[in-house]
Amino acid sequence: MRVRKLIVLSAAFISFCCMPVLSYADQVHRVLPGETLSGIARQHGITTDSLLGNNQYISYPDMIYAGQVLIIPTENKQAYQVKPGDTLYRIAQDFEISMATLADVNQIVDRDRIYSGQILSIPKVYTVKTGDTLYRIARSLGMNMSDLAVENGLKNPDKLFVGQALIIPVQSSREETLADIEREMSPTVARFPDTLFYKGYPDGRRAVALTFDDGPDKKATSEVLDLLKMYRVPATFFLVGSNVARNGDMIKRIIAEGHTVASHTWSHPDLRTLTDAQLINEMTQLENEIQRITGLRTALMRPPYGFVSDSNLQKLREMGYKVIKWSVDTNDWRDQDVDKVLINTMPDIRDGAIILMHDYLQKSVTKEALPEMIQSLRWQGYTFVTVDELLGVNAYQ
Ligand SMILES: [Zn+2]
Repeated sequence: MRVRKLIVLSAAFISFCCMPVLSYADQVHRVLPGETLSGIARQHGITTDSLLGNNQYISYPDMIYAGQVLIIPTENKQAYQVKPGDTLYRIAQDFEISMATLADVNQIVDRDRIYSGQILSIPKVYTVKTGDTLYRIARSLGMNMSDLAVENGLKNPDKLFVGQALIIPVQSSREETLADIEREMSPTVARFPDTLFYKGYPDGRRAVALTFDDGPDKKATSEVLDLLKMYRVPATFFLVGSNVARNGDMIKRIIAEGHTVASHTWSHPDLRTLTDAQLINEMTQLENEIQRITGLRTALMRPPYGFVSDSNLQKLREMGYKVIKWSVDTNDWRDQDVDKVLINTMPDIRDGAIILMHDYLQKSVTKEALPEMIQSLRWQGYTFVTVDELLGVNAYQ
């Protein structure tokens, strides 16, 4: 017992001591009647650009609506409001950064023209020392080398010079950002372009797809269906086999109300650990059950946990499946807090987003977060479609 306690304690200590320095939480701002984007930005001490950057789903900056959700980014702790008599030179000196960097970051063309009340972003800067490499700097800052290169527009990461000021990108408090997902997914998508999808390419049409995993469940799924009906939003449900047999009515309702039914395997295993025969069994067992209830055989599948190997993808392609991952992870199963779910979700929304949610939890904030997500997106011109419609593929075989 004692040994175990010690291990737990040291683990807690390690995770505490190594937290990134920039660990303030993002926060949710719910627009009040009469508020404007610039007013909200000012109120939180950030620039309008930085507010828009974190809320790229805003299509019409001049038309924000009361009740709409905005996510105030972490970086607001690094802003400075210009006071009467300030000069760019003095501010740069105070924060120990170069005037060029400060002007660059804030897109200031005329360095003599800053005005009282203006919000300036104050970047964190690392000054390159003798013997530094980008790799070593990134490691010491606990961040990704490519993030650092991109932030500083470095075309050749080997060409650093001593005294060079590198801007340290602000790390989001969200664990997995859109950039991480894209970096991870792109190579596999390139190998299986006709089979593996994690987002749609809707050609300028503002469309997103809500997806619900691990149901159906009598209580959770019917609550979600009630909401979707109320807002007239179609969605895609990735069903798990063990829940299917005893929830035939729910599956019929899902289809009757205009949603798409898809496969999430029979027993929710890590597909990478299965033989081809086991994989086929996982798929066909569920298909047979869905067909018995609905007369349909699904053509979309989502691998449990998102884990899928190249050999899985080959087999699934042979079987006629489109493999669907996601570009936005709400983490609604983990974060029992509406604001956290919104913070996980809204900043990653883009045209064609596939949004991952769940409909098996007995106590969940999914149904509280959904109305705010739907309304906020709709007010900015988004429509909701099923995954098959988003991708322009067939839902059934
Ligand atoms: Zn799942």
